[in-house]
Amino acid sequence: MTLKTKAIVLGGVDIKEKDRLIDLFTLEEGRITVSMKGVRGEKAKLKMAKEPFCFGEFVIEKGKSAIVTQVEIIDSFYDLTKDLDKYYEGFAILDMVKQITDQKDPQIFIETLKALKALCYENIKKYYVFNKFLMKITEILGFSFVKDRCGCCDALLGIVYFDLNKGCFVCPNCKTENSFKVSKDAFKGLEILRNIDYDKLDSINLALGSEKEMLKLLAINLEWREGIKVLKIK
Ligand SMILES: [Zn+2]
Repeated sequence: MTLKTKAIVLGGVDIKEKDRLIDLFTLEEGRITVSMKGVRGEKAKLKMAKEPFCFGEFVIEKGKSAIVTQVEIIDSFYDLTKDLDKYYEGFAILDMVKQITDQKDPQIFIETLKALKALCYENIKKYYVFNKFLMKITEILGFSFVKDRCGCCDALLGIVYFDLNKGCFVCPNCKTENSFKVSKDAFKGLEILRNIDYDKLDSINLALGSEKEMLKLLAINLEWREGIKVLKIK
């Protein structure tokens, strides 16, 4: 059976002399493992297509194992490998995708592409893309929480806590032992990131330090709710 599908390379391991097993996130079937023959040679035709981040149309022959026979590269996102900060952020995005996509999920596929594209081609400050991506993933998984009212008593929020039990912002009266305080900057920053498109992220400046606080909040929440470990990026 032949499968033709758009896909993103999440990673892979070398096997035999010149082959590679690829962890592929496909639009049609979710995450699958495929092998690519002879791709580690200097002159190999599909050399670029085996690299992490590579987005293309893959033709896969499925028999006893799945073998890639053809790839039309749409974007290799090669520039991500030239900037260490971008590379780590991109790598953390792929790592996140690995933890959430056993099944086909076009929404996550599109979100991943948008994030990689923004990271690769726009001049966006560190952690902005990853924070936006984590927030979208949290929402796609069904845990939307960015609201201006307390998730318990509906009071308008002034001093803000995030409550892990409820997975939402709460007021000082409703906080529990599993709540932690959130700065105004981070609270506002999440709202801004939620409402802005990836390709506009280069036009904003969030309060210094708030991007790290947001990342921490999003990571703790994802781990608490779904057991997802967000990769620490330096
Ligand atoms: Zn309350």
